Amino acid sequence: MKIETLAVHAGHIIDPATGAVSSPIHLSTTFERDPEGTYSRGFMYTRNNNPNRQALEQGISALEGGPAAAAFASGTGASMSIFQALAPGDHVLAHVDAYYGTSRLLREMFLRWGLDVSFVDMSDLRAVGKALRPKTKLAWMETPSNPLLKIVDLAAVAQIVHRAGAICVCDNTWVPTLQRPFDLGADLVLHSTTKYFGGHCDVLGGIVVTNVENDFFQRIRSIQYEGGAVPSPFDCWLILRGMRTLPWRMRAHSENAMKVADFLSEHQKVARVHYPGLKSHPGHETATKQMSMFGGMLSLEVKDGRDAAMSVAAKTKIFTRATSLGGVESLIEHRASIEGAGTTSPEGLLRLSIGLENADDLIEDLDEALR
Ligand SMILES: *Cc1c(COP(=O)(O)O)cnc(C)c1O
Repeated sequence: MKIETLAVHAGHIIDPATGAVSSPIHLSTTFERDPEGTYSRGFMYTRNNNPNRQALEQGISALEGGPAAAAFASGTGASMSIFQALAPGDHVLAHVDAYYGTSRLLREMFLRWGLDVSFVDMSDLRAVGKALRPKTKLAWMETPSNPLLKIVDLAAVAQIVHRAGAICVCDNTWVPTLQRPFDLGADLVLHSTTKYFGGHCDVLGGIVVTNVENDFFQRIRSIQYEGGAVPSPFDCWLILRGMRTLPWRMRAHSENAMKVADFLSEHQKVARVHYPGLKSHPGHETATKQMSMFGGMLSLEVKDGRDAAMSVAAKTKIFTRATSLGGVESLIEHRASIEGAGTTSPEGLLRLSIGLENADDLIEDLDEALR
């Protein structure tokens, strides 16, 4: 089945009790036991499992092409479960440009917890090889990165990491359906489903998809229900509903972003545009190899630094000043001031989440704000 068809049908059944085409939301926290004491209908208590969560996990794992998935209440909760499935003393290799919440999680929680962490620029394959240690158990890849849209060659990094006996996680939040990490050697795929899966800025969620049902994934599964950071049935329902239109939305986000990037790259007031779809982007060739389109995220650097960037964000009318991404509405964000002290974002940088408005209107809005 092609991805659009999978997105519409995966994890979906017609409700056997009523024939409802849109699945019911099962709010029940507890489920009836059989007279013999068993649970022949498969559910016992919602923290352990719930019909809506199961449908979501089946849907997203079918879409990514893995046998199983574990859903969490946020993307960060999903990331936590992966690090918690390691053991104190294990060494983790993380992309230096990983989502700042992930880097912070590693620095502020898991160093104290006993993980060893090295941050390395994974667009430099020699640096990846050099950073490996005998105790390296896991490599955290993320591409395109935030906010500079740097591209990591997933297949090349996975090969180096596997040779050292470690596993590879790919945070695929920014480009679901456009980049297929399992085909490129990833062992686990992570999504913050808050972003494109939900797609409407109205639900928080995260998921870990595995490409094999092994002991490591079993640990993640038990952290899910023993740790309890599980999503609500309604949140699961919303995220699966979002998935139905995901491939088409990703296509439209990408088409719009390409047009906006082309426009910005010619603009007098703009010093730089970071978008892997542009031929001038240093990762363009690798991106073309591993992505079917280039996604809806881009960033630009204005020529006159922080004040000029803040003023552009203050003047847009269609773009909303807000963090996050992946919704139908376009967002603009001054990244350095959101990340605060220690940020590596250039002061003149604005990150754009390109929505599903008409690209001509977005371009006009930016043109006027830059004037
Ligand atoms: C937002 C985001 C996360 C964290 O997800 P939450 O749902 O906010 O916890 C992780 N990785 C990436 C790339 C993100 O954009």
